[in-house]
Amino acid sequence: MAPAKDLTHFLSEESKRRQPSPLKTAFKYFGQPDLIFLGGGLPLSDYFPFNKITVESPAPPFENGIGYAPKEGEAITKTEVLKQKIEDFDVPLSRSLQYGHTGGQPEFLKFVKEHTELFHKPPYDDWDVLATVGNTQAWDAVLRTFCNEGDSILVEQYTFPSSMEAAKSQAVKFIPIPVDAEGILPEKLDEQLAKLEKSQLPKLLYTIPTGHNPTGSSLNKERKQAIYKLSQKYDFLIIEDEPYYFLQMETYTPDASKRDNAPKGKEEFVNALEPSFLSMDVDGRVLRLDSLSKVLAPGTRIGWIVGQPALLMKFFRLHEVSIQNPCGFSSSIVTGLLSRWGNDGYLNWLMGLRAEYTIKRDVAIDAIAASFPKEIIEYVPPVAGMFFTVFIDAARHPKFSTEFDSDPLKVENAIFESSMKKGALMIPGSWFEIAHSFPEKALSNEVDSKIFFRGTYAAVPLDQLKLGLERFGSALKEEFGL
Ligand code: PLP
Repeated sequence: MAPAKDLTHFLSEESKRRQPSPLKTAFKYFGQPDLIFLGGGLPLSDYFPFNKITVESPAPPFENGIGYAPKEGEAITKTEVLKQKIEDFDVPLSRSLQYGHTGGQPEFLKFVKEHTELFHKPPYDDWDVLATVGNTQAWDAVLRTFCNEGDSILVEQYTFPSSMEAAKSQAVKFIPIPVDAEGILPEKLDEQLAKLEKSQLPKLLYTIPTGHNPTGSSLNKERKQAIYKLSQKYDFLIIEDEPYYFLQMETYTPDASKRDNAPKGKEEFVNALEPSFLSMDVDGRVLRLDSLSKVLAPGTRIGWIVGQPALLMKFFRLHEVSIQNPCGFSSSIVTGLLSRWGNDGYLNWLMGLRAEYTIKRDVAIDAIAASFPKEIIEYVPPVAGMFFTVFIDAARHPKFSTEFDSDPLKVENAIFESSMKKGALMIPGSWFEIAHSFPEKALSNEVDSKIFFRGTYAAVPLDQLKLGLERFGSALKEEFGL
């Protein structure tokens, strides 16, 4: 395999100005046997009032499901991390709670590298990983590392608002890409890019390839390959924001009696996952943002970026003077647990997640099929993630051309208010829509009468999920006089 291409021409002015902090460079000598280190403001770890952390977790292979709380005497995984190192794979508290290791604790990085090799096998030589505080922070770091004011970025037509707020604060320009139920349409992306002047060409594509937030769509391998080719043709980076990658599910089978949710073998599970952009990245132009938020817990605030070393180094420099490193408690606990489970046990956990989310998705889609008015809606059962969308033809509303001035957004608002009165909240699609920064270059100005609402099956128990959707369906029926 070849090393990554030199892509440092993408770096922002801010990033180019970043130099190693002279004080931080001295830290590499800390712990050297014959050196008396009088150089840094490091408190002695003897004074850390944390001698031991013990965490009890379920134990692989999670035969009773991942939500099962083990009873007294049943198998558990006990993670015990001490101040000084005992197990090879543990991050001792004397180190994790100390300054240093901006790129992440070595034991954590080792686990994550093995995991990346297992699932993605990046096809270039020198790929590496760097710890983050989760994808929210990682995306903010991406913006600072690559974007100058006025640079363009490609985003899906509807996308995660928090990521866009971060981008807006950096004064970047948006080029929204048309999507369908399976995500980005590569041919439309090509058409869009062909229309841009050189100065408007994007530096990067921000995409949520799996279990998209908000649309619930997932990009398949063929589309990813086509998009990757475009990234080479027009020279831009691909940032894959992938918190939902492991929430890929079985395909939805409307007939409940034909559903096959029986546990699959490990190999079958791995092979069934959609290949990532990283897995096709021969140039080193993909930065993959991975997070444990949706697979372990959001409050772990720990994740990682996979990418080429020259670009990761710029994240390292930024982290040195901002986050410093992920929280020490989290580094010790998460690494301790994952190392005890091993990549094999973690695979069991991920397989358990697949089974749970398949059930939740099935309950949501069954409820939509049973209680939404079929005449006016369309939906595609998601194959990954936490979200589903229901498209509604606003033009079918009896007041569309009269009271609502043929404005789909007025129908959206009416549905939102009616469903709230009934006690069900789904998010209107327009809240996620991205405005084109070069409207004259947009593909079409046609007003579509389709609107959509986003819901999630992740956040509530199954009976609440069903009830909420029944309420929303009944609000729709009343609104549309059906
Ligand atoms: N990216 C997307 C697309 C999300 O939907 C979310 C969470 O809702 C995040 C990032 C946040 O991830 P993290 O908790 O790792 O910061």
